[in-house]
Amino acid sequence: MKLYNLKDNQEQVSFAQAVKQGLGKQQGLFFPKDLPSFSQAEIDALLKLDFATRSSRILSAFIGDEIPADVLAKRVNTAFAFPAPVTQVEEDISCLELFHGPTLAFKDFGGRFMAQMLSEVAGDQPVTILTATSGDTGAAVAHAFYKLDNVQVVILYPQGKISPLQEKLFCTLGENIHTVAIQDDFDACQALVKQAFDDEYLKNTMHLNSANSINISRLLAQICYYFEAVAQIPAEKRQQLVISVPSGNFGDLTAGLLAKSMGLPVKRFIAATNVNDTVPRYLDSGKWEPHRTIATLSNAMDVSQPNNWPRIEELYRRKGWLLSDLSHGAVSDETTEKTVRELAQKGYISEPHAAVAYRLLRDELQEGEYGVFLGTAHPAKFKENVERILGDTLPLPKELAERADKKLLSHLLPADFSQLRAFLLERAPK
Ligand SMILES: *Cc1c(COP(=O)(O)O)cnc(C)c1O
Repeated sequence: MKLYNLKDNQEQVSFAQAVKQGLGKQQGLFFPKDLPSFSQAEIDALLKLDFATRSSRILSAFIGDEIPADVLAKRVNTAFAFPAPVTQVEEDISCLELFHGPTLAFKDFGGRFMAQMLSEVAGDQPVTILTATSGDTGAAVAHAFYKLDNVQVVILYPQGKISPLQEKLFCTLGENIHTVAIQDDFDACQALVKQAFDDEYLKNTMHLNSANSINISRLLAQICYYFEAVAQIPAEKRQQLVISVPSGNFGDLTAGLLAKSMGLPVKRFIAATNVNDTVPRYLDSGKWEPHRTIATLSNAMDVSQPNNWPRIEELYRRKGWLLSDLSHGAVSDETTEKTVRELAQKGYISEPHAAVAYRLLRDELQEGEYGVFLGTAHPAKFKENVERILGDTLPLPKELAERADKKLLSHLLPADFSQLRAFLLERAPK
């Protein structure tokens, strides 16, 4: 597989390099040089396969012979070890539930596949993932890399500033996962990580890697669950399918559009945001005018400069598609709350991110169309808000409940780079 840098098309890398590097020169994103596609007959055959087998074929079409098919299949099996069910909400609308992984959010798919790919392409060279978290990403990274050969993970988080349950979710694993509670705030954690990456000796000795969220392997993994959604809906609805994607950095929507470019039948997509609506405004006016980011109930979508957008523009350009065909809209917190209640009345317990996507889908789905919205997180992840909105308590899902009694294994450090440096070097790969 060859990829090019969107900021400098001359820079071309292999899949392995793109996975290891994350970003290209000038912080440019990598994009696939070849866009594989399937015939209608091939799509029909793929849709009959089970999730993991089908996903290996899809990923193999991109990655090619850089990773042998049997090796890839084993990696995919390990990464996608949980289902992505489509649950009917109304007669003409279903939710693709992407929150049945170990950290209860769709980021488990991309994170776990990236971890498998990093471990695969690292070869004999052990790498150290270093990252700072204010809660959720830390858990996803820790679970994704847990017990993987060749990789150790160091996660910094602000002591006392993440919820006790969040802390239990990733600070009780041990093995190759090292968690460090820093006696300061999240910004201090991020500053320490930055200092570490600026320290050439440390970076080279530890083979530091950031497991960045814009890594191409994540996007490729996310393509697979769009096929899984289509496989589960009745065949006669497949030509009338509209998919609504709750969007922040627009990685999820990029993956959906890549699935369509491979031949998956999707009539149209809806780009759904909260009031951080740079993209919907851009699609209306043609002007790219990011505002200041506003905190909302769907906080994983509080992004005003979505970093995957250039990939979407490039895909539309390459395919000769028109951005005017991309449906879009933004939803306020007030409407989001009403929608969470509306869904509960229909018997479906949801959370703010999915509710944003459902709202736009319900409002603009046309006669004869069939709608699917993405359920990106388990309602229990946003327990406080969902309980307040519904005036009811939510049970703790087993992924959280089973870790609640485990012992915390975190180290405690002040926000002092020399102490963090010493901590890391003690764990340098031999
Ligand atoms: C990350 C996230 C999103 C947004 O996904 P993007 O790929 O960044 O657009 C939506 N919902 C939840 C729960 C998330 O964690």
